[in-house]
Amino acid sequence: MKILIKNGRVIDPANNIDAVLDVYINGALIEKIDRDIPEKKGDVHVIDASGAIVAPGLIDVHAHLREPGYEWKETIKTGTMAAVKGGFTTLVCMANTSPVNDNGSVTEAIVEKARSEGVCRVFPCGSITKGLKGEELSEIGEMFKAGIVAISDDGKSVKNAGLLRMAMEYVTIFHIPVISHCEDEDLSKGFVNEGRASLLSGLEGIPSIAEEIIAQRDMTIARYVNSHVHLTHISTRGSVDAINQEKRRYKQISCDTCPHYFTLTDEATLTFDTNTKVNPPLRSKEDVDAIKRGLKNGTIDIIATDHAPHDLTSKDVEYNLASSGISGLETAFSLSLALVREGVLSMKELLEKFTINPARMLKLPFGTLTPGKPADLIIFNPDTPWVVDTKEFASKGKNTPFQGMELTGKNLLTIVDGKIVYRDKGFGR
Ligand SMILES: [Zn+2]
Repeated sequence: MKILIKNGRVIDPANNIDAVLDVYINGALIEKIDRDIPEKKGDVHVIDASGAIVAPGLIDVHAHLREPGYEWKETIKTGTMAAVKGGFTTLVCMANTSPVNDNGSVTEAIVEKARSEGVCRVFPCGSITKGLKGEELSEIGEMFKAGIVAISDDGKSVKNAGLLRMAMEYVTIFHIPVISHCEDEDLSKGFVNEGRASLLSGLEGIPSIAEEIIAQRDMTIARYVNSHVHLTHISTRGSVDAINQEKRRYKQISCDTCPHYFTLTDEATLTFDTNTKVNPPLRSKEDVDAIKRGLKNGTIDIIATDHAPHDLTSKDVEYNLASSGISGLETAFSLSLALVREGVLSMKELLEKFTINPARMLKLPFGTLTPGKPADLIIFNPDTPWVVDTKEFASKGKNTPFQGMELTGKNLLTIVDGKIVYRDKGFGR
């Protein structure tokens, strides 16, 4: 199929493009980007993108698809449907499934399922340790052959620093990063941010140092063994400062934060709404400001979703008993567009953090509209208002603290591999 997208504002940070242009897609590849590409009669599907932005498809380096093992929370099918609705064309799925993705056959099964049922690209992340138990290394070589793009014990950090060092040294053979969930196990037994929120609610707190000591430890080990560490869902001022310092002397460090860490403060947890329960916890205003500064000055390279869908019963309990996580794929990009309106980032800088930066981090050939590359792209309107309604979520996970919130900016159309996989009801018909 051939698709011609006319008159959109094309923004491709990787190629420093920001202009009103046409995009011509031939089969699975982008063939041409130019001014006024003529409409040839016949088999070309023409899309009018006037007034909208055409950008590379978004890449999420951190999502939980729950399959295999927790299909009542999410499946590869529903998770990828949520992804393309939210503007994502590629995502990395974490290893905390059942069975855990700690060997080649589980990786193969996920890759195969994603190929047959997924509507966007899915790359598995293998676990660092078998069963996420922190005791012995997973079958990393086997998983790499089967298609993993990173390893992580996400959900917790690897407590044994010697084992983590071994993993970091080992993955240098495969040139893949270790993704670190930075929370010290013994310091993070609480439920909300330690400070005002824990004081007022009486819920046990998680101090910011729980994150910061692990962030520093993991960067120090990576530097020592010359390996790439990616710190995921960074939430505190101390982490931003430490990463900023470490990046000055060691290059193979990258990091991401998630929309909830720059949109909400720990005030939100005072409602006892379990949809605000997430690990690491929502932090203070001071931390939120630091996260925004880190995004602006480039300390934070990537915005990820940490999409963590849950069934209702996992959340419909007391705060301390509720599962942690936010169903994020369908709100992440819209929430992040607020950073542009606030003047924290330019549109190009924001798109960098969703496209070319994650592609480079994972060494994937996506995240750009360069002719000859796979045709993964989105058309969105940064000004369209809409109200978050979980009844309309493609994800099975309705757990979001943003239910009922009015957001500005909406994905309208998603193309993966040259095929239209999502179209907003109101667009182009
Ligand atoms: Zn995590």
